[in-house]
Amino acid sequence: MLEKMEILDVEMVIEEFEAMTKDAGSVQRETLKKILEENGCAEYLQNLGLNGRTDPESFKACVPLVTHQDLEPYIQRIADGDSSPILTGKPITTISLSSGTTQGKPKFVPFNDELMETTLQIYRTSYAFRNREFPVGKGKALQFIYSSKQSKTKGGLFAGTATTNVFRNSQFKNAMQAMQSQCCSPDEVIFGPDFHQSLYCHLLCGLIFREEIQLVSSTFAHSIVLAFRTFEQVWEELCADIREGILSSRITFASVRSAMAKLLKPNPELADLIHNKCTALSNWYGLIPELFPNVKYIYGIMTGSMEPYLKKLRHYAGELPLLSADYGSSEGWIGANINPNLPPESATYAVLPNIGYFEFIPLNENVEELVQDKINTSFVSAEPKPVGLTEVKVGEEYEIIMTTFAGLYRYRLGDVVKVMGFHNSTPELNFVCRRNLMLTINIDKNTEKDLQLAVEEAAKLIAGEKLEVVDFSSHVDVSTDPGHYVIFWEISGEVSDEVLKECCNCLDRSFVDAGYISSRKVNAIGPLELRVVWRGTFQKILDHYLGLGAALSQFKTPRCVGPTNNKVLQILCGNVAKSYFSTAF
Ligand code: AMP
Repeated sequence: MLEKMEILDVEMVIEEFEAMTKDAGSVQRETLKKILEENGCAEYLQNLGLNGRTDPESFKACVPLVTHQDLEPYIQRIADGDSSPILTGKPITTISLSSGTTQGKPKFVPFNDELMETTLQIYRTSYAFRNREFPVGKGKALQFIYSSKQSKTKGGLFAGTATTNVFRNSQFKNAMQAMQSQCCSPDEVIFGPDFHQSLYCHLLCGLIFREEIQLVSSTFAHSIVLAFRTFEQVWEELCADIREGILSSRITFASVRSAMAKLLKPNPELADLIHNKCTALSNWYGLIPELFPNVKYIYGIMTGSMEPYLKKLRHYAGELPLLSADYGSSEGWIGANINPNLPPESATYAVLPNIGYFEFIPLNENVEELVQDKINTSFVSAEPKPVGLTEVKVGEEYEIIMTTFAGLYRYRLGDVVKVMGFHNSTPELNFVCRRNLMLTINIDKNTEKDLQLAVEEAAKLIAGEKLEVVDFSSHVDVSTDPGHYVIFWEISGEVSDEVLKECCNCLDRSFVDAGYISSRKVNAIGPLELRVVWRGTFQKILDHYLGLGAALSQFKTPRCVGPTNNKVLQILCGNVAKSYFSTAF
């Protein structure tokens, strides 16, 4: 459909979405039926005794809840070249590497045409709603998108990050064209072998096409912030390139150089204009609309682990609206942002009931069970009882379980979501956190969000000196007795010991979880430690992940570093400039 159509018929997309969400319950039953019919012959399902049944009741009775670890042997066989129907009816020919930034190492997950189609469906849906509120004209998008190294598995399958698989798909380009969001950079830049060089060229392309740029985007907001932080360092070099029409020698790859040579012509007026704008700005506030006068909005995933970058993004964006993109994972998509007017902090994602079969483990009950388990000390984990998509309750939190067209059945993604409301009969979810990202030593339980709030509070103490926390992470140190929280901060400049001591106390006081406070009071948890790391430490972490095959497009700073993430912990601990212990309790 998209190949033939130049511009997407947004009203039709919205109509289809409305119709489908009015009867989300039966669309879910139908979707499950379709998934099981298409894949019933797969070894995994055959072994579970479904015997051709496709109803949710039989499905739940026969198929266990699994994690990635449970499926690893199956996925590994696929990667090793076994082309029999293992997880799906049609053999999987491409593997995605999930960013793995939360677990410490990239995971293999299956990718197929159906997953590509659901990706486009999500993109179309959110675009349709977005375009009603924020129409973009004919033009281009400055997209900070990058591919990962594309490798081949032992069995000869292509393996790249999910976004790389999407960007490489021919349908992606057509779809972007239909949504008037075509990337202003040539493919050689997007697929360039070095992200530092690609980033520089993305910026340069954006400046060359500055009048045409309608939106600035990336998959995750972190990449946009990183891009403009880099701009602050390299803007004079960019201006020089534009003035002379000669690309900086920092770009060394021939393919990238020759693609850029086609775009770059000497343009002293443009160079002067950009130079003047940059020197006139105060502390880079409103940089994006200054550089790109026709930009309508900034777009990218801004929730979850991206929230800490919002402050900086707002600074660069000035008055421009920030719109959070959709919710999904390498494993499969979940929901589209159909309320683009909401600020990113309260963005919700409406689940598309035909892109997978979704179940939800209620968390409130389980948290209590966990606490009870801990009290009883005999750890008997109760089998969680998930509910269906249309059975979730507003205000409740759940762990999400997905069954996809790409061979995952009752798969625990590990994300916690909160139901904020319903659109017709499909829920609108707010992303809460990764379930395993918890700072916990005793009876305390702090999520990534709790950590973020504490950091925001303490960072106010350095904001007065026009300094900011560039990035942060944490670690539970149980090598001391009692154990204690360690928070790592990278700061944009020098701060006095006195202020940092205060920041450390403030962090300690800002965890409002009753379990933490009571444990601190009786010294069952030791004083919080703030470790300030050298500038560039988080860049080293990013480089470490890129070396493992991750892509910048999907990078998420690990906010809580555990023993499975030894290398990152080593980087953090090896770059500590100063450390402080709290005296708050
Ligand atoms: P990956 O597949 O490695 O790129 O990571 C997918 C994970 O990124 C999801 O499981 C979420 O934890 C996180 N994620 C994806 N989309 C969003 C979103 N819109 N808001 C918050 N977190 C997200």
